[in-house]
Amino acid sequence: LAAVRARRSLDEGQVVTLVSDRDVLVERIRNHQLAAGQTLRRVSLRELMAEAGVELVIGRMTGLDVARSEIVVDGRVLGYARLILAPGSRATVAVEGKEHVFSLEVESSARLAARLTAGVGRLLVVGGGLCGIEAATELAEAYPLTNVTLVSRDPVDKLLAPGAGRHLRRVLARLGVTVLEGAGVTALTEGSAALSDGRAVSFDACLWAGGFVASSLAASVGLPTNGIGQVPVDARLHAADNVYVVGDAACLTASAGSPVEMSCRSAMPMGAHAADNAVAAMQGRQELPFRYRELGICISLGRHDAIVQTRRSDDGRPGWLWLGGRLGAGVKEWICKYTVGSIEKEAGRRQKYRWLASKPEANKGPRRLTAS
Ligand SMILES: Cc1cc2nc3c(=O)[nH]c(=O)nc-3n(C[C@H](O)[C@H](O)[C@H](O)COP(=O)(O)OP(=O)(O)OC[C@H]3O[C@@H](n4cnc5c(N)ncnc54)[C@H](O)[C@@H]3O)c2cc1C
Repeated sequence: LAAVRARRSLDEGQVVTLVSDRDVLVERIRNHQLAAGQTLRRVSLRELMAEAGVELVIGRMTGLDVARSEIVVDGRVLGYARLILAPGSRATVAVEGKEHVFSLEVESSARLAARLTAGVGRLLVVGGGLCGIEAATELAEAYPLTNVTLVSRDPVDKLLAPGAGRHLRRVLARLGVTVLEGAGVTALTEGSAALSDGRAVSFDACLWAGGFVASSLAASVGLPTNGIGQVPVDARLHAADNVYVVGDAACLTASAGSPVEMSCRSAMPMGAHAADNAVAAMQGRQELPFRYRELGICISLGRHDAIVQTRRSDDGRPGWLWLGGRLGAGVKEWICKYTVGSIEKEAGRRQKYRWLASKPEANKGPRRLTAS
């Protein structure tokens, strides 16, 4: 989004380059669908960037020299006037035995799908946050002969209004998902997970959705990072001279604005805003502070149900308004399509991506979590 948006506003003679280690756009928000064996639409970055007029370099960034305004991609040095880093995040297994689990990353999800298709009696999903709930319900629906257990340290309805919470529990029960709350997994061995309350859960396959940390790229190239690998950025999304960091890899400091959760909901506005600021700086205009307001969360519950839950803008707690059932599923699917559709429309100059901005005073003071 940042690349195609910057291309749209810069002069013809200026070059915008996207560096990506893949030639397809990964819709991470659908990775649990991959684990369920569904075939997702393939969005070619080559076609998308060609349409936008953005140069595409397929490769892995491994180095950054801020003083020289250069990055290294697979051993090749590329110069820049402005750099926007958006390397995202990755699942992290914080306990012993990570070799025994699958994750919700693309390759691992595909491997899990193959395993589940071959037949698995007991699937353990670790983590009752949004990703864990989406995965447990999706997989229980897709593989009805598999017994799915969801382990969650916190109540699974923690982020939901009471009615939405009851709806979630009804759906989990309907899909036959066993929910174990109030305990976390402390160690994993082949076929068994030890819980913090002394219980042990046996499994034939285990999916870890117990937390994410930022990509290791920023730390590896010498940028300062917080405890989960995110780069602190200021209100204009600057991390260093002429370097912006956005999305899951960025942490808005409290002085610059409210901590923003790792999410696609905030990553896209940050990417678009960094592009606008980079263009403004290159054209001698003033850069603006990032403003963002979160409307709510959406949780898919298989293909036929979902919860769309509003959030209060003052403290981030669940609002009274929520949608469930087929209506919720329709809204959730529309939102998923909107994310990729927004990038495609921006690339084709058909529509400019917009988001809901907070009032300036709402960006003051600490609030909410920084990562799920
Ligand atoms: C199963 C699942 C469901 C989710 N559902 C939701 C949801 O419903 N709503 C929501 O708001 N969020 C959701 N999220 C979170 C959301 O997907 C992320 O917050 C979002 O993708 C972050 O965007 P990003 O651009 O920062 O990073 P990513 O989407 O992770 O993109 C980073 C890209 O950079 C590439 N890259 C990384 N390092 C390098 C390098 N060194 N060189 C070149 N390329 C590199 C990666 O391959 C990747 O393509 C979900 C996540 C998962 C896993």
